[in-house]
Amino acid sequence: MFNVLPQSLKTGVVTTSYPATPPEVSPLARGRPEIDWAAWKDARPATAICPTGAIAFQDGIGGRRVQLDLAQCIFCGLCAEVDPAIRMTNVCECAASHRTDLVTAADYSLNSDGTHDRLISPPSGPGTTPGRQASAAEDAVEALGLEIRAQVAKMLGRSLHIREVDAGSCNGCEIEIVGLNSPIYDLERFGMHFVASPRHADMLLVTGPVTRNMELALRKTYDAMPAPRLVVAVGACGCSGGIFGVNYATRGAVDVVVPVDVYIPGCPPNPHALLHGILLAVGRLPKGR
Ligand code: SF4
Repeated sequence: MFNVLPQSLKTGVVTTSYPATPPEVSPLARGRPEIDWAAWKDARPATAICPTGAIAFQDGIGGRRVQLDLAQCIFCGLCAEVDPAIRMTNVCECAASHRTDLVTAADYSLNSDGTHDRLISPPSGPGTTPGRQASAAEDAVEALGLEIRAQVAKMLGRSLHIREVDAGSCNGCEIEIVGLNSPIYDLERFGMHFVASPRHADMLLVTGPVTRNMELALRKTYDAMPAPRLVVAVGACGCSGGIFGVNYATRGAVDVVVPVDVYIPGCPPNPHALLHGILLAVGRLPKGR
């Protein structure tokens, strides 16, 4: 102990002050792709090379609708290599409460050779799907959902017990989740702890595309948790099925099996991205984050 104390004093505080300050992410870190929608001349090369279908387009009579789905994106950067209108960023705060908020779309008129003529309906911001109009009934459901979320956040926001379930991941997400308990990120400073039993848990953190072998186990884990409970889908696989999608061995996204409260994109999401998603779920992010 007498050796440890001087060493600790010498090292000083290493814990990040996130979320009070922006995440300290290396400029070389791989985050979400960013598209210059106005300058985008042709979505076809990026769509052809994207391994997960995160960038997709549909041609119709009025032109072309192009979309970027962050839930499917594995941040590989291949699209940026073939298209000068796309660049990779180190932005990792991408979590969202609604699956649709991870989708950005825009419409283009086309030239005769299939390239983009001009932007007809520009995206109004990252994660906004133009033309998605909520009905009065949807607004009412949304308001009720926000009220319930606020109540749950009030109940769980100060002390949260998390149970993690690997529903079929490659363990990339698990390595980042382990990082949350390191002195750098120190999840416990928020009063949050990982627990071994779902009966003690308030939040289920689920990684991987849900394999058919793990589907029943995931359902049982969810059912064993006391209400109110939160579910966070981690990584491209958890959010959408990722590169595996739906096949003979996997059911795809976590929300196919259990209801999801927050989606954290990335492949894998780094600890800052995980913190952002977990704090979003319990309403503890500073305003504007
Ligand atoms: S970064 Fe990779 S997965 Fe994401 S849109 Fe580009 S090509 Fe697709």
